[in-house]
Amino acid sequence: MVQKNLIDGEWIAGSEAFRNINPSDTNDVVGEYARASAEDARAAIAAAKAAFPAWSRSGILERHAILRKTADEILARKDELGKLLSREEGKTLAEGIGETVRAGQIFDFFAGECLRLAGEVLPSARPNIGVEITREPIGVVGIITPWNFPIAIPAWKIAPALCYGNTVVFKPAELVPGSSWAIVDILHRAGLPKGVLNLVMGKGSVVGQAMLDSPDIHAITFTGSTGTGKRVALASVEHNRKYQLEMGGKNPFVVLDDADLKVAVEAAVNSAFFSTGQRCTASSRLIVTEGIHDRFVAAMGERMKGLVIDDALKAGTQIGPVVDESQLNQDTDYIAIGRQEGAKLAFGGELLKRDTPGFYLQPTLFTEATNAMRISREEIFGPVASVIRVKDYDEALIVANDTPFGLSSGIATTSLKHATHFKRNADAGMVMVNLPTAGVDFHVPFGGRKGSSHGSREQGRYAAEFYTTVKTAYTLA
Ligand code: NDP
Repeated sequence: MVQKNLIDGEWIAGSEAFRNINPSDTNDVVGEYARASAEDARAAIAAAKAAFPAWSRSGILERHAILRKTADEILARKDELGKLLSREEGKTLAEGIGETVRAGQIFDFFAGECLRLAGEVLPSARPNIGVEITREPIGVVGIITPWNFPIAIPAWKIAPALCYGNTVVFKPAELVPGSSWAIVDILHRAGLPKGVLNLVMGKGSVVGQAMLDSPDIHAITFTGSTGTGKRVALASVEHNRKYQLEMGGKNPFVVLDDADLKVAVEAAVNSAFFSTGQRCTASSRLIVTEGIHDRFVAAMGERMKGLVIDDALKAGTQIGPVVDESQLNQDTDYIAIGRQEGAKLAFGGELLKRDTPGFYLQPTLFTEATNAMRISREEIFGPVASVIRVKDYDEALIVANDTPFGLSSGIATTSLKHATHFKRNADAGMVMVNLPTAGVDFHVPFGGRKGSSHGSREQGRYAAEFYTTVKTAYTLA
């Protein structure tokens, strides 16, 4: 059965369909999904525009109830939805279920935020005049998401968009439509009026582009690559629309001489290799001071030997496959580039064979890397990390900040002085001390600086900044 697009409250088949393939077993077809056309995207945008006046004035209890019901169903079905996610994306079942729970928590959080909408009342500078400051919805929000978090990223964009009274046109990555289809189905059945949320699965170059080109989309929130982010930005400037971008990272993880070695290795292995390194918050630059360098590299090697890389759904798997062939080629190209550049391939780097045909790659660690190498400057987006040796903390901080990106930054140290200094001086949106660079809770701001992000933060109460517009209203008393 082909899973359809949702346009103006109707499930629409369209003229084409595409297959969702399991990267752990390419013989396994997860499902078939309707491929929207540019015309479908325009119909979805028109439906969202028509639905906006009523939804933007809907009662907070209606919005609360729909978001709450959605959260409850996602959480009740976490094992089934987590399995679907792992099957289509390739992260382990534990990671898939964890991500699904996070999506449920996000809907639950924003169900609460509907009830907490507040403004400000201030005295004017002039006597007998009052000023009210309120937040209003923006209009039609376009949501474009990547493949690496198929349920959490759609959740953290859709939930606040609806909570604050916007209507939505949502385009998930074509590689992983299953989880997105499932949450749209849940929201639809939870009672959203027609046209409030529209799903258009299909190609970015067709459906996404039709969204960028439409004057009737008032805001676009995008997560994905830097290249597509730039297109979103340029088109948004053209249409004078609000936009928010979350793009790549080249996140540093600093290990100081005084680090607890076990804590440092656990955090580094998690940062670099879990979720197959396919997280924008993954750390691919391990910046290590010389006093601990050799012990750290040896301990990483020992730890990496024990990692279980296999089918994402198998019990005991710690690292699943790469998401598809093209990403696998990108990873192996960078491994070749690292060797050509003179970094030492210390561990891993081999393609692996498992019981089923899939995109299995051994986690890979380079040593003797410099921060000038391409493997240290460009996002690889796979289980590939390099160790950069530095003299001391001061040099480590300079190297950590010497990157076009600025999403997440981590340090392993037992020194309060260095931890405090690093939190203050790391040029990143998120900083972790003795913890992996990835792993931000559902209720706190997520986002970065420099080439990693543009616009206000996602998640938590900070999301209101993007999904609302402020109004200042005066009344003569
Ligand atoms: P892409 O930028 O290729 O895709 C992201 C989304 O944009 C997809 O839905 C894609 O559609 C769509 N898209 C592609 N072309 C266009 C277009 N011309 N107009 C509108 N939309 C378009 O990135 P990936 O999904 O391949 O994700 C990997 C990259 O994203 C990595 O570089 C990673 O760092 C970054 N990323 C950043 C995150 C962050 O929070 N900072 C989080 C996750 C990933 P389709 O794929 O269906 O063609």
